[in-house]
Amino acid sequence: DPRLQGISDAIRVVPHFPKQGIMFNDITTLLLRPRVFKDAVDLFVERYRGMGIDAVAGIEARGFVFGPAIALAIGAKFIPLRKPRKLPESCADTGSRKQLLLLLLEGEVISEKYVLEYGTDCLEMRVGAIERSGERVLVIDDLVATGGTLCAAIRLLERAGADVVECACVIGLPKFKDLYKLNGKPVYVLVESR
Ligand code: 5GP
Repeated sequence: DPRLQGISDAIRVVPHFPKQGIMFNDITTLLLRPRVFKDAVDLFVERYRGMGIDAVAGIEARGFVFGPAIALAIGAKFIPLRKPRKLPESCADTGSRKQLLLLLLEGEVISEKYVLEYGTDCLEMRVGAIERSGERVLVIDDLVATGGTLCAAIRLLERAGADVVECACVIGLPKFKDLYKLNGKPVYVLVESR
């Protein structure tokens, strides 16, 4: 597809960010080119439209850039998978009456830890975001490296009763291609990192 070259060219590769030896793929340069941004969203929409997807789950923060546009275009809801302590219910253990009330009204928050290159991180979601068992969910992020983040997202969604159909990212890092540990779920990438 000729659109893929434009997408690849619009991603800026920044050496030694955020630390020495890391080649960072910066998608903000792609977002500044509306034609290319639209091409990326359209390619996902063309793939997932008509597949009976109920929800698009986006991973904070860059999954929030692509996920909602795809969700709206395919007529699905959008579920944010958030970093720790961003969802009001996840603060319920601080014990305030207001937060306890939120927990009762809005439902439980579940979390999944995952391993990064250095250290660990965590994703959280509201169980109530999946409204019935077997909802078909697509997971979106900007980039897959080891697949650890996507795996945590899959575990969260499956714990809430979802059926994860596929994971999709704008960029895949080829050096990790054989290392994807995605709980048996397929991952679709538009372009490989340069
Ligand atoms: P993984 O868990 O697959 O090893 O790492 C993927 C996660 O790290 C994604 O959430 C992604 O946003 C972030 N990430 C890691 N390296 C890069 C990078 O070079 N560019 C961007 N944009 N995100 C990265």
